[in-house]
Amino acid sequence: MNDVLPDQTPAWQYLEQTMRDLLAAYAYREIRFPVLEQTQLFKRSIGEVTDIVEKEMYTFEDRNGDSLSLRPEGTASCVRAAEQHGLLYNQTQKLWYMGPMYRHERPQKGRYRQFYQMGVEAFGMPGVDIEAEILMFCYDLWQRLDIIDVVRLQINNLGTADDRLSFSEALKNYLEVHREDLDEDSQRRLDKNVLRILDSKSPQTQEILRNAPQMPDYISTESAESFSAIQKILVSAGIDFEVNTRLVRGLDYYNGLVFEWVTDKLGAQSAVCSGGRYDGLSKQLGGTDTPGVGFALGMERLILLLEELDRLPAETAHTVDVYLAVIGSGVTEQAQLLARAIRQNLPELRVLTHCGGGKYNSQLKKAFASGARCALILEGDEAQAEIKTKILDDDGATDSIATSSVCDWLKANLKN
Ligand code: ATP
Ligand code: MG
Repeated sequence: MNDVLPDQTPAWQYLEQTMRDLLAAYAYREIRFPVLEQTQLFKRSIGEVTDIVEKEMYTFEDRNGDSLSLRPEGTASCVRAAEQHGLLYNQTQKLWYMGPMYRHERPQKGRYRQFYQMGVEAFGMPGVDIEAEILMFCYDLWQRLDIIDVVRLQINNLGTADDRLSFSEALKNYLEVHREDLDEDSQRRLDKNVLRILDSKSPQTQEILRNAPQMPDYISTESAESFSAIQKILVSAGIDFEVNTRLVRGLDYYNGLVFEWVTDKLGAQSAVCSGGRYDGLSKQLGGTDTPGVGFALGMERLILLLEELDRLPAETAHTVDVYLAVIGSGVTEQAQLLARAIRQNLPELRVLTHCGGGKYNSQLKKAFASGARCALILEGDEAQAEIKTKILDDDGATDSIATSSVCDWLKANLKN
């Protein structure tokens, strides 16, 4: 679990703001739910035989002896909250959330035990329209973040629940014959979650899969048509994609469209955003039978991409506009009141008042180091009628102006 230090938070704020602006442009609404839920919620939604539930959850008993887990992802909680508060009754919802998720994985670059996701969940809409909108949203986000050239879209169709079942059976019958040659994880999954074997990393298992029944042969006509329809819209929208018939996703609740945005700039941690349709989930959790589709993106992985490719806008480094140097204890009060007056008159400026005393040179050094655009220097044993000004981005000379005209001077000199 990581600390995010002050040097890194501007990048986070930039990412968060870009996402919030785009979410607003799509008229999606934010929902917030707790980081803790009943363990049962995740077992019933994500699935008992998944990496997340088998190995990755932080689960403990609380003081009442109830089993709780830190949320490993947001979809289950979002469905739970929406159902519980009647948001799924006779209406559609386009929701988003942002926050930490917890998985006990082996930490490495792009993989952490507390990590942040932004997710979108859309309820009550069964068609390709919402699927197209969601994929377009992602595309627009990559464009705004200037990383469209380094991410690729993979899509697949898992079919209806029935399609999924008949394919699973066929796959199971085929793999049963090769049971002994499968890797250990896949042997275990054979009985409980056979689809997951498709994305096994074992070369031998992959070799066996080459002659296995193929998912597209088990997809019903209606589902296949809707999968063609979404591809047609993607083509019209100029969104490149590839169909990957091995893409199954690590969670049990998906059906129909599944997708992943991947990059090859982050080593093994290639998925930056994953999602799909999960029409059966709300019913499976004991609620209304409501179609759902959504995705979650990994914020650390996006920050890594932005940093490594140097795609963060320069202004994200700028957190100070005005550095007010205060030299001599006689001007302490005047400095505090002056800084407040500047903030009241020019609320868009970020004013850092030097506190704690110190010599002229050392305060000026700090002014430069802060990245401020200008310094104001108030110096003396008593309140001053004059203040020194200095633009910090060149060898700007030090001038002297009337203290009462500081706001005018700032307006004239820090226009943008
Ligand atoms: P992976 O295959 O990389 O383990 P996943 O299939 O487990 O990903 P999801 O559960 O779909 O991932 O989560 C959505 C997104 O969250 C992923 O695409 C990824 O960007 C991010 N993510 C998942 N696990 C982690 C983690 N441990 N640390 C950082 N980001 C993560
Ligand atoms: Mg994972």
